[in-house]
Amino acid sequence: MDFALTSEQQRLQRIARQFAYTELWPAAQRLDKAAAPRDAFPASLVRRASELGLRTITIPGEYGGPGAGLLTEVVVMEEIATGDCGFAMTLAHAWREGSLLARWTTPEQRERFLPEFLADPGYLTALASTETHAGSDHGLPYAGDLTAGPQTTAVADGDCWVINGRKRFITNGNVARLVVVWARTETGRPWTEGTSGFLVPAGTPGLQPGRTEDKLGLRLNQNTELVFTDCRVPGANLIGELNRGYQLSEASMAGSKAREAARALGVARSAYELALAWARQRVQGGQAIIGHDLIATRLAGVLQEIELARTLIWRAAWAVDHDPERSRPLEDFAMLYASEMGVRAVTQCLRIFGARGSLRDWPMEKLVRDAATIMLPPIGNEAAWIRAARFIRQHGEPDPLVRSDGPDGLTLPFTPPAD
Ligand SMILES: Cc1cc2nc3c(=O)[nH]c(=O)nc-3n(C[C@H](O)[C@H](O)[C@H](O)COP(=O)(O)OP(=O)(O)OC[C@H]3O[C@@H](n4cnc5c(N)ncnc54)[C@H](O)[C@@H]3O)c2cc1C
Repeated sequence: MDFALTSEQQRLQRIARQFAYTELWPAAQRLDKAAAPRDAFPASLVRRASELGLRTITIPGEYGGPGAGLLTEVVVMEEIATGDCGFAMTLAHAWREGSLLARWTTPEQRERFLPEFLADPGYLTALASTETHAGSDHGLPYAGDLTAGPQTTAVADGDCWVINGRKRFITNGNVARLVVVWARTETGRPWTEGTSGFLVPAGTPGLQPGRTEDKLGLRLNQNTELVFTDCRVPGANLIGELNRGYQLSEASMAGSKAREAARALGVARSAYELALAWARQRVQGGQAIIGHDLIATRLAGVLQEIELARTLIWRAAWAVDHDPERSRPLEDFAMLYASEMGVRAVTQCLRIFGARGSLRDWPMEKLVRDAATIMLPPIGNEAAWIRAARFIRQHGEPDPLVRSDGPDGLTLPFTPPAD
Protein backbone atom coordinates (compact mmCIF):
# COMPACT_ATOMS: atom_id res chain seq x y z
CA MET A 1 0.00 0.00 0.00
CA ASP A 2 1.39 3.37 -0.95
CA PHE A 3 -0.01 6.60 0.43
CA ALA A 4 2.59 8.71 -1.39
CA LEU A 5 1.10 11.20 -3.82
CA THR A 6 2.42 11.37 -7.38
CA SER A 7 4.60 14.30 -8.35
CA GLU A 8 1.67 15.78 -10.30
CA GLN A 9 -0.63 15.47 -7.27
CA GLN A 10 2.00 17.10 -5.09
CA ARG A 11 2.41 19.91 -7.62
CA LEU A 12 -1.32 20.67 -7.66
CA GLN A 13 -1.47 20.36 -3.87
CA ARG A 14 1.31 22.93 -3.48
CA ILE A 15 -0.31 25.36 -5.94
CA ALA A 16 -3.67 25.02 -4.17
CA ARG A 17 -2.14 25.46 -0.71
CA GLN A 18 -0.16 28.53 -1.70
CA PHE A 19 -3.31 30.07 -3.20
CA ALA A 20 -5.46 29.10 -0.22
CA TYR A 21 -3.13 30.40 2.47
CA THR A 22 -1.89 33.59 0.87
CA GLU A 23 -4.80 34.82 -1.27
CA LEU A 24 -8.04 33.01 -0.50
CA TRP A 25 -7.95 33.00 3.32
CA PRO A 26 -7.33 36.75 3.74
CA ALA A 27 -9.96 37.69 1.15
CA ALA A 28 -12.49 35.25 2.59
CA GLN A 29 -12.25 36.78 6.08
CA ARG A 30 -13.37 40.08 4.56
CA LEU A 31 -15.93 38.80 2.04
CA ASP A 32 -17.62 36.56 4.61
CA LYS A 33 -18.64 39.68 6.54
CA ALA A 34 -20.34 41.37 3.56
CA ALA A 35 -23.87 42.30 4.57
CA ALA A 36 -25.44 41.49 1.20
CA PRO A 37 -24.81 37.86 0.13
CA ARG A 38 -24.20 38.96 -3.46
CA ASP A 39 -21.27 41.12 -2.30
CA ALA A 40 -19.49 38.05 -0.95
CA PHE A 41 -18.94 36.62 -4.43
CA PRO A 42 -15.18 36.40 -5.09
CA ALA A 43 -15.07 37.05 -8.86
CA SER A 44 -11.37 37.93 -8.93
CA LEU A 45 -10.46 34.81 -6.95
CA VAL A 46 -12.32 32.65 -9.48
CA ARG A 47 -10.21 34.19 -12.24
CA ARG A 48 -7.04 33.74 -10.18
CA ALA A 49 -7.88 30.08 -9.52
CA SER A 50 -8.37 29.69 -13.28
CA GLU A 51 -4.94 31.20 -14.00
CA LEU A 52 -3.45 28.63 -11.63
CA GLY A 53 -5.24 25.82 -13.45
CA LEU A 54 -7.48 25.04 -10.46
CA ARG A 55 -10.87 25.60 -12.12
CA THR A 56 -10.47 23.03 -14.86
CA ILE A 57 -8.61 20.16 -13.20
CA THR A 58 -11.23 17.54 -14.09
CA ILE A 59 -11.09 18.22 -17.83
CA PRO A 60 -9.44 15.27 -19.62
CA GLY A 61 -6.13 15.71 -21.40
CA GLU A 62 -7.69 15.34 -24.87
CA TYR A 63 -9.60 18.61 -24.23
CA GLY A 64 -6.66 20.47 -22.71
CA GLY A 65 -7.07 19.79 -18.98
CA PRO A 66 -4.98 17.69 -16.58
CA GLY A 67 -7.71 15.03 -16.31
CA ALA A 68 -7.36 14.70 -12.56
CA GLY A 69 -8.85 11.60 -10.97
CA LEU A 70 -10.93 11.88 -7.81
CA LEU A 71 -7.98 11.23 -5.49
CA THR A 72 -6.24 14.28 -6.94
CA GLU A 73 -9.45 16.28 -6.67
CA VAL A 74 -9.91 15.58 -2.96
CA VAL A 75 -6.28 16.38 -2.23
CA VAL A 76 -6.66 19.75 -3.97
CA MET A 77 -10.14 20.33 -2.53
CA GLU A 78 -8.85 19.92 1.04
CA GLU A 79 -6.28 22.65 0.44
CA ILE A 80 -8.75 25.08 -1.10
CA ALA A 81 -11.32 24.46 1.63
CA THR A 82 -8.67 25.19 4.24
CA GLY A 83 -8.62 28.68 2.70
CA ASP A 84 -12.40 28.96 2.38
CA CYS A 85 -14.94 26.21 2.19
CA GLY A 86 -17.62 28.23 0.38
CA PHE A 87 -15.18 29.08 -2.39
CA ALA A 88 -14.22 25.41 -2.59
CA MET A 89 -17.88 24.60 -3.20
CA THR A 90 -18.14 27.21 -5.94
CA LEU A 91 -15.15 25.67 -7.67
CA ALA A 92 -16.39 22.11 -7.11
CA HIS A 93 -19.28 22.86 -9.44
CA ALA A 94 -16.90 23.84 -12.22
CA TRP A 95 -15.12 20.52 -11.61
CA ARG A 96 -18.33 18.49 -11.66
CA GLU A 97 -20.16 20.19 -14.50
CA GLY A 98 -16.87 20.55 -16.43
CA SER A 99 -16.45 16.80 -16.15
CA LEU A 100 -20.09 16.28 -17.16
CA LEU A 101 -19.53 18.43 -20.26
CA ALA A 102 -16.40 16.52 -21.19
CA ARG A 103 -17.66 13.00 -20.50
CA TRP A 104 -21.43 12.87 -20.79
CA THR A 105 -22.34 15.15 -23.70
CA THR A 106 -22.33 14.66 -27.48
CA PRO A 107 -19.33 15.79 -29.58
CA GLU A 108 -21.52 18.59 -30.94
CA GLN A 109 -22.43 19.79 -27.42
CA ARG A 110 -18.78 19.64 -26.37
CA GLU A 111 -17.81 21.74 -29.39
CA ARG A 112 -20.42 24.33 -28.47
CA PHE A 113 -19.76 24.62 -24.74
CA LEU A 114 -16.30 23.35 -23.80
CA PRO A 115 -14.07 25.89 -25.59
CA GLU A 116 -15.73 28.82 -23.80
CA PHE A 117 -15.68 26.96 -20.48
CA LEU A 118 -11.95 26.43 -20.89
CA ALA A 119 -11.07 29.85 -22.25
CA ASP A 120 -13.03 32.17 -19.98
CA PRO A 121 -11.38 32.35 -16.52
CA GLY A 122 -14.61 33.57 -14.94
CA TYR A 123 -16.76 30.77 -16.37
CA LEU A 124 -18.76 29.00 -13.65
CA THR A 125 -21.55 26.47 -13.87
CA ALA A 126 -24.60 25.42 -11.87
CA LEU A 127 -26.52 22.23 -11.45
CA ALA A 128 -30.21 22.71 -10.69
CA SER A 129 -32.13 19.93 -9.04
CA THR A 130 -33.58 21.07 -5.69
CA GLU A 131 -37.01 22.72 -5.60
CA THR A 132 -39.24 23.94 -2.81
CA HIS A 133 -40.86 20.51 -2.46
CA ALA A 134 -37.97 18.40 -3.76
CA GLY A 135 -34.95 18.00 -1.50
CA SER A 136 -33.43 14.80 -0.14
CA ASP A 137 -35.86 12.77 -2.25
CA HIS A 138 -33.75 13.46 -5.35
CA GLY A 139 -30.98 11.42 -3.74
CA LEU A 140 -32.98 8.64 -2.16
CA PRO A 141 -35.32 8.40 -4.38
CA TYR A 142 -38.77 7.02 -3.43
CA ALA A 143 -39.50 4.37 -6.06
CA GLY A 144 -42.83 4.81 -7.81
CA ASP A 145 -43.74 8.08 -6.07
CA LEU A 146 -44.91 10.59 -8.69
CA THR A 147 -44.63 13.50 -6.27
CA ALA A 148 -40.98 12.81 -5.31
CA GLY A 149 -38.14 14.63 -7.04
CA PRO A 150 -38.15 17.74 -9.23
CA GLN A 151 -41.48 18.95 -10.64
CA THR A 152 -40.02 21.42 -13.14
CA THR A 153 -41.22 20.40 -16.60
CA ALA A 154 -39.71 20.40 -20.07
CA VAL A 155 -42.24 20.06 -22.89
CA ALA A 156 -41.29 19.46 -26.53
CA ASP A 157 -42.42 22.20 -28.90
CA GLY A 158 -41.22 21.77 -32.49
CA ASP A 159 -37.46 21.34 -32.30
CA CYS A 160 -37.26 23.04 -28.89
CA TRP A 161 -37.89 22.20 -25.25
CA VAL A 162 -39.88 24.66 -23.14
CA ILE A 163 -38.88 24.60 -19.47
CA ASN A 164 -41.06 25.85 -16.60
CA GLY A 165 -40.38 25.65 -12.89
CA ARG A 166 -38.53 27.13 -9.94
CA LYS A 167 -35.30 25.73 -8.52
CA ARG A 168 -34.02 26.50 -5.02
CA PHE A 169 -30.61 26.69 -3.29
CA ILE A 170 -28.65 26.54 -6.55
CA THR A 171 -24.93 27.06 -6.11
CA ASN A 172 -23.61 29.67 -8.56
CA GLY A 173 -27.22 30.30 -9.71
CA ASN A 174 -26.62 34.04 -10.18
CA VAL A 175 -23.09 33.82 -11.60
CA ALA A 176 -23.10 30.65 -13.72
CA ARG A 177 -22.64 30.92 -17.46
CA LEU A 178 -24.21 27.52 -17.99
CA VAL A 179 -26.91 25.72 -16.01
CA VAL A 180 -27.54 21.98 -16.08
CA VAL A 181 -31.19 21.56 -15.15
CA TRP A 182 -33.17 18.41 -14.38
CA ALA A 183 -36.77 18.60 -15.58
CA ARG A 184 -39.70 16.20 -15.94
CA THR A 185 -40.17 15.15 -19.55
CA GLU A 186 -42.83 12.55 -18.58
CA THR A 187 -45.06 13.85 -15.81
CA GLY A 188 -47.00 10.59 -15.64
CA ARG A 189 -43.92 8.66 -14.50
CA PRO A 190 -41.80 8.86 -11.33
CA TRP A 191 -38.81 11.13 -11.59
CA THR A 192 -36.44 8.19 -11.87
CA GLU A 193 -38.13 7.22 -15.16
CA GLY A 194 -39.36 10.50 -16.61
CA THR A 195 -36.69 13.15 -16.09
CA SER A 196 -34.11 14.56 -18.47
CA GLY A 197 -31.15 16.89 -18.24
CA PHE A 198 -30.77 20.10 -20.28
CA LEU A 199 -27.98 22.57 -20.90
CA VAL A 200 -29.28 26.12 -20.47
CA PRO A 201 -26.84 28.98 -21.13
CA ALA A 202 -27.21 32.01 -18.84
CA GLY A 203 -29.07 34.78 -20.64
CA THR A 204 -31.50 32.40 -22.34
CA PRO A 205 -34.84 34.26 -22.34
CA GLY A 206 -37.07 32.82 -19.62
CA LEU A 207 -34.19 31.90 -17.27
CA GLN A 208 -33.92 34.32 -14.38
CA PRO A 209 -32.02 34.08 -11.07
CA GLY A 210 -34.36 34.77 -8.15
CA ARG A 211 -33.48 35.53 -4.54
CA THR A 212 -29.88 35.08 -3.38
CA GLU A 213 -29.99 33.18 -0.08
CA ASP A 214 -28.52 34.79 3.03
CA LYS A 215 -26.79 31.74 4.49
CA LEU A 216 -25.33 31.03 7.93
CA GLY A 217 -22.00 29.87 6.51
CA LEU A 218 -20.21 29.19 3.21
CA ARG A 219 -21.08 32.77 2.45
CA LEU A 220 -18.70 33.20 -0.50
CA ASN A 221 -20.72 30.46 -2.18
CA GLN A 222 -23.63 32.04 -4.04
CA ASN A 223 -26.88 30.21 -3.57
CA THR A 224 -29.97 31.35 -5.43
CA GLU A 225 -33.34 30.51 -6.84
CA LEU A 226 -33.51 29.90 -10.58
CA VAL A 227 -36.81 30.66 -12.23
CA PHE A 228 -37.69 29.09 -15.59
CA THR A 229 -40.64 30.73 -17.36
CA ASP A 230 -41.35 29.36 -20.83
CA CYS A 231 -37.59 29.04 -21.23
CA ARG A 232 -36.91 27.63 -24.73
CA VAL A 233 -33.79 25.65 -25.45
CA PRO A 234 -32.92 23.84 -28.69
CA GLY A 235 -33.60 20.10 -28.85
CA ALA A 236 -29.84 19.69 -29.19
CA ASN A 237 -29.43 20.84 -25.55
CA LEU A 238 -30.87 17.62 -24.16
CA ILE A 239 -28.09 15.78 -22.29
CA GLY A 240 -27.94 12.03 -22.72
CA GLU A 241 -31.03 9.95 -23.38
CA LEU A 242 -34.56 11.26 -23.01
CA ASN A 243 -36.10 10.29 -19.63
CA ARG A 244 -32.77 8.94 -18.33
CA GLY A 245 -31.92 12.10 -16.39
CA TYR A 246 -32.01 10.43 -13.00
CA GLN A 247 -29.50 7.80 -14.13
CA LEU A 248 -27.29 10.48 -15.66
CA SER A 249 -27.55 12.59 -12.52
CA GLU A 250 -26.49 9.64 -10.36
CA ALA A 251 -23.60 8.71 -12.64
CA SER A 252 -22.31 12.25 -12.96
CA MET A 253 -22.60 12.77 -9.19
CA ALA A 254 -19.92 10.13 -8.55
CA GLY A 255 -17.27 11.86 -6.50
CA SER A 256 -19.51 14.67 -5.21
CA LYS A 257 -19.73 13.29 -1.72
CA ALA A 258 -16.00 12.66 -1.47
CA ARG A 259 -15.44 16.28 -2.52
CA GLU A 260 -17.96 17.38 0.07
CA ALA A 261 -16.07 15.37 2.68
CA ALA A 262 -12.78 16.95 1.64
CA ARG A 263 -14.33 20.38 2.15
CA ALA A 264 -15.31 19.47 5.71
CA LEU A 265 -11.78 18.16 6.24
CA GLY A 266 -10.36 21.50 5.09
CA VAL A 267 -12.48 23.39 7.63
CA ALA A 268 -11.38 21.04 10.41
CA ARG A 269 -7.78 21.53 9.37
CA SER A 270 -7.96 25.32 9.45
CA ALA A 271 -9.56 25.15 12.92
CA TYR A 272 -6.82 22.80 14.10
CA GLU A 273 -3.97 24.88 12.68
CA LEU A 274 -5.33 28.07 14.24
CA ALA A 275 -6.01 26.44 17.62
CA LEU A 276 -2.51 24.95 17.67
CA ALA A 277 -0.95 28.34 16.92
CA TRP A 278 -3.06 30.01 19.62
CA ALA A 279 -2.29 27.30 22.17
CA ARG A 280 1.40 28.00 21.62
CA GLN A 281 0.95 31.75 22.15
CA ARG A 282 -1.60 32.06 24.92
CA VAL A 283 -0.07 31.95 28.37
CA GLN A 284 -1.98 30.86 31.46
CA GLY A 285 -0.52 29.59 34.73
CA GLY A 286 2.94 30.72 33.67
CA GLN A 287 3.15 28.66 30.49
CA ALA A 288 1.70 28.45 26.99
CA ILE A 289 -1.61 26.64 27.30
CA ILE A 290 -0.37 23.83 25.04
CA GLY A 291 1.74 22.86 28.04
CA HIS A 292 -1.47 21.95 29.90
CA ASP A 293 -2.27 18.32 29.22
CA LEU A 294 -5.98 18.84 28.64
CA ILE A 295 -5.29 21.32 25.85
CA ALA A 296 -2.66 19.16 24.18
CA THR A 297 -4.81 16.02 24.36
CA ARG A 298 -7.80 17.93 22.99
CA LEU A 299 -5.68 18.96 20.01
CA ALA A 300 -4.39 15.41 19.64
CA GLY A 301 -7.98 14.17 19.53
CA VAL A 302 -8.82 16.62 16.74
CA LEU A 303 -5.73 15.60 14.79
CA GLN A 304 -6.65 11.93 15.15
CA GLU A 305 -10.09 12.63 13.68
CA ILE A 306 -8.58 14.66 10.83
CA GLU A 307 -6.33 11.70 9.98
CA LEU A 308 -9.26 9.28 10.16
CA ALA A 309 -11.35 11.46 7.87
CA ARG A 310 -8.55 11.89 5.35
CA THR A 311 -7.88 8.15 5.25
CA LEU A 312 -11.56 7.41 4.62
CA ILE A 313 -11.84 10.13 1.97
CA TRP A 314 -8.76 8.90 0.11
CA ARG A 315 -10.07 5.33 0.28
CA ALA A 316 -13.47 6.43 -1.10
CA ALA A 317 -11.79 8.50 -3.83
CA TRP A 318 -9.57 5.59 -4.77
CA ALA A 319 -12.66 3.37 -5.00
CA VAL A 320 -14.45 5.85 -7.32
CA ASP A 321 -11.37 5.86 -9.56
CA HIS A 322 -10.71 2.10 -9.49
CA ASP A 323 -13.64 0.14 -8.04
CA PRO A 324 -16.78 2.19 -8.79
CA GLU A 325 -19.20 -0.69 -8.02
CA ARG A 326 -18.30 -0.55 -4.35
CA SER A 327 -17.55 3.14 -4.07
CA ARG A 328 -20.99 4.52 -3.27
CA PRO A 329 -21.28 3.58 0.41
CA LEU A 330 -17.64 4.48 0.94
CA GLU A 331 -18.38 7.96 -0.37
CA ASP A 332 -21.44 8.19 1.86
CA PHE A 333 -19.37 7.07 4.87
CA ALA A 334 -16.64 9.59 4.05
CA MET A 335 -19.13 12.45 3.76
CA LEU A 336 -21.00 11.44 6.92
CA TYR A 337 -17.87 11.02 8.97
CA ALA A 338 -16.06 14.12 7.71
CA SER A 339 -19.03 16.49 7.91
CA GLU A 340 -19.85 15.46 11.47
CA MET A 341 -16.16 15.38 12.39
CA GLY A 342 -15.82 18.93 11.04
CA VAL A 343 -18.40 20.20 13.51
CA ARG A 344 -16.77 18.30 16.39
CA ALA A 345 -13.29 19.51 15.45
CA VAL A 346 -14.30 23.14 15.12
CA THR A 347 -16.15 23.03 18.45
CA GLN A 348 -13.14 21.53 20.22
CA CYS A 349 -10.82 24.11 18.68
CA LEU A 350 -13.21 26.94 19.53
CA ARG A 351 -12.86 26.11 23.21
CA ILE A 352 -9.09 26.55 23.01
CA PHE A 353 -9.69 30.21 22.13
CA GLY A 354 -11.77 30.81 25.26
CA ALA A 355 -13.87 33.98 25.01
CA ARG A 356 -11.99 35.03 21.88
CA GLY A 357 -13.61 32.12 20.06
CA SER A 358 -16.86 34.06 20.10
CA LEU A 359 -15.50 37.27 18.59
CA ARG A 360 -16.56 38.12 15.07
CA ASP A 361 -13.22 39.67 14.18
CA TRP A 362 -11.43 36.48 15.25
CA PRO A 363 -11.54 33.57 12.83
CA MET A 364 -13.24 30.77 14.77
CA GLU A 365 -16.83 31.92 14.53
CA LYS A 366 -16.70 31.78 10.72
CA LEU A 367 -15.39 28.22 10.87
CA VAL A 368 -18.20 27.19 13.22
CA ARG A 369 -20.76 28.61 10.78
CA ASP A 370 -19.05 26.98 7.79
CA ALA A 371 -18.80 23.56 9.46
CA ALA A 372 -22.48 23.65 10.45
CA THR A 373 -23.55 24.54 6.91
CA ILE A 374 -21.50 21.74 5.32
CA MET A 375 -23.62 19.18 7.14
CA LEU A 376 -26.63 20.17 5.03
CA PRO A 377 -26.01 19.53 1.28
CA PRO A 378 -25.77 17.75 -1.15
CA ILE A 379 -28.18 15.34 0.48
CA GLY A 380 -29.00 15.51 4.17
CA ASN A 381 -26.85 13.23 6.31
CA GLU A 382 -29.93 11.18 7.24
CA ALA A 383 -30.52 10.49 3.54
CA ALA A 384 -26.89 9.41 3.19
CA TRP A 385 -27.31 6.98 6.09
CA ILE A 386 -30.44 5.60 4.42
CA ARG A 387 -28.54 5.06 1.16
CA ALA A 388 -25.73 3.26 2.97
CA ALA A 389 -28.27 1.07 4.79
CA ARG A 390 -29.98 0.22 1.49
CA PHE A 391 -26.65 -0.83 0.00
CA ILE A 392 -26.07 -3.27 2.86
CA ARG A 393 -29.62 -4.66 2.62
CA GLN A 394 -29.38 -5.11 -1.15
CA HIS A 395 -26.10 -6.97 -1.20
CA GLY A 396 -26.83 -10.08 0.86
CA GLU A 397 -24.07 -11.97 2.63
CA PRO A 398 -21.24 -11.36 2.95
CA ASP A 399 -21.70 -7.72 2.13
CA PRO A 400 -19.15 -6.67 -0.46
CA LEU A 401 -17.51 -4.00 1.65
CA VAL A 402 -16.67 -5.67 4.90
CA ARG A 403 -13.62 -7.42 3.47
CA SER A 404 -11.09 -5.07 2.00
CA ASP A 405 -10.31 -7.45 -0.89
CA GLY A 406 -13.97 -7.91 -1.90
CA PRO A 407 -16.52 -10.73 -1.56
CA ASP A 408 -15.39 -14.34 -1.94
CA GLY A 409 -18.45 -16.37 -0.91
CA LEU A 410 -17.00 -17.40 2.46
CA THR A 411 -19.20 -16.90 5.50
CA LEU A 412 -18.47 -17.57 9.14
CA PRO A 413 -20.26 -20.79 10.15
CA PHE A 414 -23.19 -19.68 12.26
CA THR A 415 -26.33 -21.62 13.05
CA PRO A 416 -28.33 -19.91 15.75
CA PRO A 417 -28.62 -22.28 18.74
CA ALA A 418 -32.19 -23.29 19.52
CA ASP A 419 -33.72 -20.75 21.85
C1 LIG B 1 -24.79 25.44 0.58
C2 LIG B 1 -25.78 24.70 -0.22
C3 LIG B 1 -25.57 24.50 -1.57
C4 LIG B 1 -26.50 23.80 -2.34
N1 LIG B 1 -26.29 23.68 -3.69
C5 LIG B 1 -27.23 23.05 -4.45
C6 LIG B 1 -27.06 22.99 -5.87
O1 LIG B 1 -26.08 23.48 -6.44
N2 LIG B 1 -28.03 22.37 -6.61
C7 LIG B 1 -29.13 21.81 -6.03
O2 LIG B 1 -29.96 21.27 -6.75
N3 LIG B 1 -29.32 21.87 -4.67
C8 LIG B 1 -28.40 22.47 -3.88
N4 LIG B 1 -28.57 22.55 -2.52
C9 LIG B 1 -29.76 21.96 -1.93
C10 LIG B 1 -29.46 20.61 -1.30
O3 LIG B 1 -29.24 19.65 -2.31
C11 LIG B 1 -30.68 20.26 -0.42
O4 LIG B 1 -30.64 21.14 0.69
C12 LIG B 1 -30.65 18.83 0.05
O5 LIG B 1 -30.95 17.98 -1.01
C13 LIG B 1 -31.65 18.57 1.19
O6 LIG B 1 -32.92 19.01 0.79
P1 LIG B 1 -33.78 19.96 1.76
O7 LIG B 1 -32.91 21.08 2.21
O8 LIG B 1 -35.05 20.30 1.06
O9 LIG B 1 -34.08 19.06 3.04
P2 LIG B 1 -35.27 18.01 3.22
O10 LIG B 1 -35.24 17.01 2.13
O11 LIG B 1 -36.52 18.76 3.46
O12 LIG B 1 -34.83 17.30 4.56
C14 LIG B 1 -34.99 17.90 5.84
C15 LIG B 1 -34.34 16.98 6.88
O13 LIG B 1 -35.00 15.70 6.86
C16 LIG B 1 -34.03 14.67 6.63
N5 LIG B 1 -34.69 13.61 5.85
C17 LIG B 1 -35.15 13.67 4.59
N6 LIG B 1 -35.67 12.49 4.22
C18 LIG B 1 -35.54 11.66 5.28
C19 LIG B 1 -35.89 10.31 5.54
N7 LIG B 1 -36.46 9.53 4.61
N8 LIG B 1 -35.58 9.78 6.77
C20 LIG B 1 -34.98 10.55 7.72
N9 LIG B 1 -34.63 11.83 7.54
C21 LIG B 1 -34.90 12.38 6.33
C22 LIG B 1 -32.90 15.34 5.90
O14 LIG B 1 -31.66 14.66 6.05
C23 LIG B 1 -32.87 16.71 6.59
O15 LIG B 1 -32.18 16.58 7.81
C24 LIG B 1 -27.66 23.25 -1.73
C25 LIG B 1 -27.88 23.44 -0.36
C26 LIG B 1 -26.96 24.16 0.39
C27 LIG B 1 -27.22 24.36 1.86
